[in-house]
Amino acid sequence: MTRESASRGAARSRDRHAGLTVLRKILAKEEEDGYEDRAVIGGLDRFLSRHAEELRSSLGEIGPYSVLTPAERRDWASETLGRISALGLESTTIPKRPSRPRARAGGSDSIAGLKIAGGVGRHVARLNRLGIRTIRDAIQHFPHRHNDFSRISKVSELEHGKEQTIVATVWEATETKRGARRASTQAVLGDRTGNVRAIWFGQGFLAKTLKTGAKVVISGPVKTFKGRHVFESPEYELLTDQEELVHTGRLVPVYPTTEGLPQRTIRRIVRAALKAGLKDVVETLPADLRRREGLVSLPDAISQIHYPDTQADLESSRRRLAFDEMLLLQLAVLSRRRAWREVEEGVPLMSRRGGGYTDSFLASLPFELTGAQLRVIEEITQDLVRGRPMVRLLQGDVGSGKTVVAVAALLLAVDSGRQGAFMAPTEILAEQHYLTVCRLLARGVPDLDQDGARARIELSTGRPLAVALLTGSTRKAVRDRLLKDIAAGEIDIVIGTHVLIQESVDVPNLAVGVVDEQHRFGVMQRAALGSGDSRPHLLAMSATPIPRSLSLTVFGDLDVSLLDEIPPGRKPVKTRRIAAPQRPAAYEFVKTELERGHQAFIVFPLIDGSEAVQARAATEEHERLSREVFASYRLGLLHGRMKSRDREAVLHSFSEREIDVLVSTSVIEVGIDFPNATVMVIDGADRFGLAQLHQFRGRVGRGAEQSYCLLLSDSETPDAVERLKVLETVTDGFRLAEEDLRIRGPGDFLGTRQSGLPEMRVASIIDTATASKARREADRMLESDPGMDEPEHAALGRRLREVLDASVTGGG
Ligand code: ADP
Ligand code: MG
Repeated sequence: MTRESASRGAARSRDRHAGLTVLRKILAKEEEDGYEDRAVIGGLDRFLSRHAEELRSSLGEIGPYSVLTPAERRDWASETLGRISALGLESTTIPKRPSRPRARAGGSDSIAGLKIAGGVGRHVARLNRLGIRTIRDAIQHFPHRHNDFSRISKVSELEHGKEQTIVATVWEATETKRGARRASTQAVLGDRTGNVRAIWFGQGFLAKTLKTGAKVVISGPVKTFKGRHVFESPEYELLTDQEELVHTGRLVPVYPTTEGLPQRTIRRIVRAALKAGLKDVVETLPADLRRREGLVSLPDAISQIHYPDTQADLESSRRRLAFDEMLLLQLAVLSRRRAWREVEEGVPLMSRRGGGYTDSFLASLPFELTGAQLRVIEEITQDLVRGRPMVRLLQGDVGSGKTVVAVAALLLAVDSGRQGAFMAPTEILAEQHYLTVCRLLARGVPDLDQDGARARIELSTGRPLAVALLTGSTRKAVRDRLLKDIAAGEIDIVIGTHVLIQESVDVPNLAVGVVDEQHRFGVMQRAALGSGDSRPHLLAMSATPIPRSLSLTVFGDLDVSLLDEIPPGRKPVKTRRIAAPQRPAAYEFVKTELERGHQAFIVFPLIDGSEAVQARAATEEHERLSREVFASYRLGLLHGRMKSRDREAVLHSFSEREIDVLVSTSVIEVGIDFPNATVMVIDGADRFGLAQLHQFRGRVGRGAEQSYCLLLSDSETPDAVERLKVLETVTDGFRLAEEDLRIRGPGDFLGTRQSGLPEMRVASIIDTATASKARREADRMLESDPGMDEPEHAALGRRLREVLDASVTGGG
C-alpha cells in the first residue's frame, strides 16, 4: 500500500466514524424535537446522501427518513441507533470533530481552569447550563445589553422623568410588606450632595444585600413622589474597592444568566476569560473585505462588545459580529446552492417554441392567466433554457393558481422531448394533482386507463401525452408496468408521492421536477443527485408565505418566484373571532352548514406538545364531539401519530363525503383541496401564528360556496384579540406573514424552522441590509475560492464545514 492510499484509508475510516457520531447526535436531537426532521438543514436525507457511502459501508442499506411519519421516523431512528451501537464504536475512540473545539473538563481551555477569586469550580454546572464550557465560550457569551454608568449624576442634580445613574452609599434598606402583596425593598441612599429614596417592588430580599454603608451604583428612571425624587426598581450594582474601575464610569455589560449565577459573578468570570483568552482570538475576515465593509477587527469587536469605551464602539463591534454571523449563514446558503448548480451541468431545454404543448395548454385554459402567473412562467422558461439546473421556490398564497404554473413547467420539459415529474407529500394530494393535471390538459374528462393510473391525453398539437400516477398504493402489477413504461421514456409526466424517488424508479429523461410544499425539497434533491448524468431543473412550490425579509436568509439558497395575485372573482373566507364561552354557538353554526350538505374541519391546538400529546388531545376531543355535540353526524379523526395509510384513508373518506366533520391536529395544514368543505373551526386559535392560521383557513373557500373560518380563542388579552382581529380583515397571506413577524419577532415566527441555521446572537435575521452585504461578500469569496482553502479563508472555511456538515443544533 502506498503511503498516500494508506492515509486516504485512514481518513476514510475517520470520516465514517465522524459520520456515525454526527448521525447519533442528529437522532438524539430528533427525538428531542418529536421527529420533525428539523435537526438537519434541508432534512436528514440530505445528510444521509452526503454520507451515503460511509453509512452504507458501516450500517448497510438505510432508507429515506424525511418521507416517513414521525411515528415511523422513531422506529427508523431506533433501528438505526441499534445498528450503530452494534458496531461497538463506543469502546473504540471516535475521533472528536476537530472543528468543534470543546475542551473536556479540566482541559487547558476549560472554564474550570479560569483564575478568579474564590475559583470558578462551584459555578461550573451553572455555566454549562448557559453553554459555557470553555474560556472561548465565555468570551463568546455576549451581553444582551449594557448599563450606561458613563454618565454619573450627583444626587442634587437628579431630574424628574429621566434615566439617570448615581454612585451612592446605602444609609438604610428595609423590607416592607403591605397586605398580600409581595414584599418590597425601600432604601435611602446618598452622596455628598444629598439623599434620595429607591424602591424595588416585589424584591424584599434586596434589603439584606444592600447593607448600611455599602457603596452602590443605581441606574434607572427617576420619579417624583410627594415632591421628592425616587428611583423605581432601578438597576443596582454593589461596588467593591478593587472592582470599582470595572463596574463604574462606563458601559457595563449585562449578561444572559441563569438562576444562582448573579450578574456580578458572571461578569467577573467573563472578564477573567477575556483577560486570559482575548490574545488567542484571531481575525477571521480577509483584510480587504474588512476595509470594504468598514469593519473593526475581531479582537477589538469582542473586547468592545463586552466593555465598550463609547456607545459608538459598541455599535461598531455589534456591526462586525453581526456581519460575521450573516456571512457564515450566507456562505452556508450559497455553497449549498453552488454545490447543486455548478458542479454538474443541468439539462438545457430547447427554447420555448410556439405551437408546443405548453402554448396549446395555456391557450386552452378556461380562464385568463393572472399577470403573476404569466410572469412566473416566463421566469421559469428563462431558467430552463439556461444550462444550469434551476432551483426555484414558487411562493403563492393559497388559491393563487400554482398548479397551472407547475403544469406549464412540466410541459416545457415534454416540449423538449424530455420527461417531467410532479411529487406531492401525500397520496391524496398526488391523486388530486393527477386528476387536476389530466383534467386541465384534457379540458374535461380525461381518458384514463382501467386502473386509472395512466392517462392518454389528446392535445391539439403533436402526439397524445401520457401521464401516470405512481404512489405507495399503486397495485404491484400496475406499478411494474408503469415502471417499465417510465424507464422506456413512454410516460411524459409522472405524478406521485415519494415513491418517485425510490431507486427502482428510473426516469431516464427527467428534465423538470416539481415538488409541492417545499419541505420535501431536500428529498427531491437527494433523488436527483443519485440519478443520471445531469441534474433536472427543480421547482418547489409553497403556500407558506415567507416574508420577503427572510427569503434572503432562511431560504437564500433558492431563487424565489412570487405569485402575488389571486385570480379574480374569489369569495374571501368570512372570518370571525369567537370567545371560548361561545363555543356552543360555533358548533351550532357548523351544524347549519352540515345541514346544507357541506363539510367542516375542526382543528386543534397544542402546537407545543409532542406529536403524542397532540394526538391524544385530538383523540379525546374527537370522542367528546362525537358523543356530545355532533352525535348525529359522521366524524373523522386525523393526527400525526396515525399510520400514513390510515391517514390517507381518512382523507379519502372525507373527499368522498363519507365524513361530515374532520377533527384534526395541525397536520391538516398541507394544501389539500376539498371544495365541499365550507367551515374551518380553529380551536385555541390564539396559540397559532397568523401565518399558520391563514394556512388552515386556506383549506376552505375552494369551491363556489361562501366559506367561513371561526377562530375560537381562550385568551381575551388585548394582544390576542388584536392579533386575531387582523385575520378578520386581512386576506393576503404575505401581508399576514409580515404582520406575524412584526408581532412575534423572528425567533417565534421561525420557531424550530430556524434550527439548522448557524446561530444568530448579535445579528437579526430580518436585517436585510446586513444580509445582502454579507451575501455579496460570500458570493465574491466563493467565486474566488470555492473550496475556502486559501489561508485567509481558513478559519471561516472551518466554521462553514461545521455548519454544512451536520447542522446539528442544540447539541452545543
Ligand atoms: P394553489 O396555488 O393553492 O395550489 P390551485 O393551483 O389549486 O391553487 O388553484 C386554485 C383554483 O384556481 C383552481 O381551481 C384553478 O383551476 C383556479 N385557477 C388557477 N389560475 C386561475 C386563473 N388565472 N383564473 C381563474 N382561476 C384560476
Ligand atoms: Mg396547491
